[in-house]
Amino acid sequence: VPDSADAVLDGLDPEQREVALALRGPVCVLAGAGTGKTRAITHRIAYGVRAGILQPSTVLAVTFTNRAAGEMRGRLRQLGAGGVQARTFHSAALRQLQYFWPKAVGGELPRLLERKVQLVNEAAARCGIRLDRNELRDVTSEIEWAKVTQTVPADYPAAVAKSSRDAPRAPAEISQIYSTYEQLKRDRGVIDFEDVLLLTVGILQDRHDIADQIRRQYQHFVVDEYQDVSPLQQRLLELWLGERDNLCVVGDASQTIYSFTGATPDHLLNFRSRYANATVVKLVRDYRSTPQVVHLANGLLSQARGKAADHRLELVSQREAGPAPAYVEYGDEPAEAESTARRIRDLIAAGVSASEIAVLYRINAQSQVYETALADAGVPYQLRGAERFFERPEVREAGVALRGAARAGGNDSLLDDADDLASQVRAVLGTKGWTAKAPAGSGAVRDRWESLAALVRLAEQLSSSRAAAGSRATLSDLVAELDERAAAQHAPTVEGVTLASLHAAKGLEWDAVFLVGLTEGMLPITYAKTDEQVEEERRLLYVGVTRARLHLTLSWSLARAPGGRASRRPSRFLSGLRPGTVAAGVGGAVGGGGIERGGSSAPGTVTGTPAPRHRNRSPVRCRVCGKGLTDAGEMKLMRCEDCPSDMDEALYERLRDWRA
Ligand code: ATP
Ligand code: MG
Repeated sequence: VPDSADAVLDGLDPEQREVALALRGPVCVLAGAGTGKTRAITHRIAYGVRAGILQPSTVLAVTFTNRAAGEMRGRLRQLGAGGVQARTFHSAALRQLQYFWPKAVGGELPRLLERKVQLVNEAAARCGIRLDRNELRDVTSEIEWAKVTQTVPADYPAAVAKSSRDAPRAPAEISQIYSTYEQLKRDRGVIDFEDVLLLTVGILQDRHDIADQIRRQYQHFVVDEYQDVSPLQQRLLELWLGERDNLCVVGDASQTIYSFTGATPDHLLNFRSRYANATVVKLVRDYRSTPQVVHLANGLLSQARGKAADHRLELVSQREAGPAPAYVEYGDEPAEAESTARRIRDLIAAGVSASEIAVLYRINAQSQVYETALADAGVPYQLRGAERFFERPEVREAGVALRGAARAGGNDSLLDDADDLASQVRAVLGTKGWTAKAPAGSGAVRDRWESLAALVRLAEQLSSSRAAAGSRATLSDLVAELDERAAAQHAPTVEGVTLASLHAAKGLEWDAVFLVGLTEGMLPITYAKTDEQVEEERRLLYVGVTRARLHLTLSWSLARAPGGRASRRPSRFLSGLRPGTVAAGVGGAVGGGGIERGGSSAPGTVTGTPAPRHRNRSPVRCRVCGKGLTDAGEMKLMRCEDCPSDMDEALYERLRDWRA
């Protein structure tokens, strides 16, 4: 802990200090990746607290993910400024909503809707509209988008026409489904994730007494990653502020990667015109990455187009030279994954800690082949977001009971029934006090019940997928499935390599980063069609590149499967950057070298290579609950329809916490 307020400023450069010392009035920090924005605001809060200028409990710091919020709280504690609230918009809103609901509305806060997609489907059916699975998912996203942009059902057609979005169905139909969905939620007394913010906004707007109470509590607001604020979050922020302007925002327009959900960098870019008296600070020194990585990042930015690109900031590395970024082309995806796993093993052997290594990809469904390869190479890893389920004590305990029952020959009972397996599981769990009916209300008990119910669902899924394949699932199969899933996630105590999507990597950093699967169709992703959408994909790559401190490897493969048609092409974003195709002044010059050929595992050349054990058996899993996915739409998102989206995951966890 620094021994004085001034000592808190020691670790800052002059511009960062300026941020830290501007404790009143509006402050805006516009700066590129790795320039110390998050550090500057964290030190700013700590300095204010340590100097006695800010009362810790009156500061609300808003970050983008729960993990970032946790890191900020930890850092603040280290700087001697514990007790400051650092939360996501959702968790801050939920907390306030929980607190004020009885007074504002009466009764308990309604339950959170857990099967949103299903309810949207039901709403569509009531409207006489049949949606296929993809349409259903896309219509659900449209409803989410409408809500975060504060568009009511009647206004949806006009709003979508004005935006650059492609409505998955006729806008009038979507509007009708949206309106019915809202009605169904009211009828059932449930709220969805967007409602948490909407209701908080509603209460703050309508109830001046409550708004005043919140404004008395929070007097200073700090927002990280402000380029990705949604109109709804912005509205909430304005309501929190009221007439005041003690707001410090930091962001980088070049890292806007959530505009597809309705977020916009406009609030960041227009901050100065909004607050004429704003202190605006620009940071350009990049403390995170080597000159080689920074050079590549700058090269990428120089090709960016559009509004965000007009505000790009060239980065200047402060670090010593490091290795050139590696570009590797593979014959097929398993070869790419296996080679990546080998390179990771080599780095670990050379002394890089596994927790300082990340493999980043565009969509979560890409993780599976890397999970397999890392498991086969004996490298521990963590899949962000999906690891928790198997760590729960009740799940472990149930695993032991199920294993015992399987050993005792439980497989031979009840086998004629199509629902053989799930009933057995219910019976075994029954011996642990589990009941088929959910217990009322109370937190921890309910949570425990939910975990075990997930096991029953897993059994049901296993049965039905086996039944579809003409066979039957047994208790031993379930136990094997559980073991496999738990093993695939490795021991929770092991510090592992991070596997994460580019979206989830935002704000984080590692010594070594592998950006994999960089092909046309993946980055930019097939469904990015408009110029704006393609630019957002380029920014995603920029976010990925700038996560690396030292080692950076960019790779792609020409075919999906060994022996498959080599129909893939490397991402267009790499041309002009990778060596061999060097455009003047951009990329490669520092890198030197050339594109490595990583080979392929096509049959004939590697007939002897054993297929990793669970390549086919282990399904793509929901990153929230760990459930196996078979639906293509769900696999695309790597999230089952029962679980909240990535951004909402933080809230989902919070909700569990509060219920407990
Ligand atoms: P991003 O845009 O990716 O969120 P950022 O601008 O928030 O990046 P930080 O994460 O705050 O950047 O900082 C990047 C790295 O540089 C961190 O490891 C941080 O500790 C380090 N750093 C920042 N400022 C300084 C400084 N003045 N001296 C030394 N290290 C610094
Ligand atoms: Mg940051």
